[in-house]
Amino acid sequence: MLHVDVMDGHFVPNISIGPPVVKSIRKATDMFLDCHLMISNPLAYVESFSKSGADLISFHIECDSDVEETLEKIINAGVKPALVIKPKTPAEAVFPYLEKLAMVLVMTVEPGFGGQSFMADMLPKIKAIREKANQVNPDLLIQVDGGIVPETAELCVEAGADVLVSGSYIFGAENIENAVNSLR
Ligand code: ZN
Repeated sequence: MLHVDVMDGHFVPNISIGPPVVKSIRKATDMFLDCHLMISNPLAYVESFSKSGADLISFHIECDSDVEETLEKIINAGVKPALVIKPKTPAEAVFPYLEKLAMVLVMTVEPGFGGQSFMADMLPKIKAIREKANQVNPDLLIQVDGGIVPETAELCVEAGADVLVSGSYIFGAENIENAVNSLR
């Protein structure tokens, strides 16, 4: 998957990629586009990201939009829905939504900046979500984002993560293919 970090300069201080860039990426590749919306009002942008070619849209449970309504809008657009939790948000926050979700993203750094180091105290959170999902939605994927290198990747997978997001480790490597293979 290609993970696209979308920042609005409001939910997080940085500004990054918006729908026109996603549209351009879509033209260039058939890869699964996983759009991580670090924005205050995801509900208002579901349509533009789905029309731009997103295959999955994840948004923060800490955002200002109504969570239920935003999930419905994503599902009705034919896009896979996912929820994201920041380091200070407990695992239980996503439990009411697990049956509807394709994926939960557990942030292992504070969202908004690349290159931060991994927060190991997020591992019990991954485990708690995995255990709950096994009861209500065994197909649910758990994704981790932030500080992923081979050592932390192993810890996340042991805790129950299925999808590892890596930016700095892969794109900062001399050989991207080797970096991806070492995570796998
Ligand atoms: Zn991300």
